[in-house]
Amino acid sequence: MVTRGTWVLGEWPLPLVRIKCEKCQRLGQYHTQRLVDQHGADMNMPELRHVLVRCSKRYTMNDPCQVVFVDRVER
Ligand SMILES: [Zn+2]
Repeated sequence: MVTRGTWVLGEWPLPLVRIKCEKCQRLGQYHTQRLVDQHGADMNMPELRHVLVRCSKRYTMNDPCQVVFVDRVER
């Protein structure tokens, strides 16, 4: 079941997935196909960005990580 407005990895239309977190100065880009191989096509993108960035602030409620996708794709 896919929540409206939430991408899953298998549907991502771009060849690369790019992420950044301004709080921890992280920047990364990954080949979409390689991510599908590693995490599966059903991985949802909001979860994936945290998996990729491995940010130490991920679980910090009062100062959470703000990792985002560089490419904003409307669906
Ligand atoms: Zn972060």
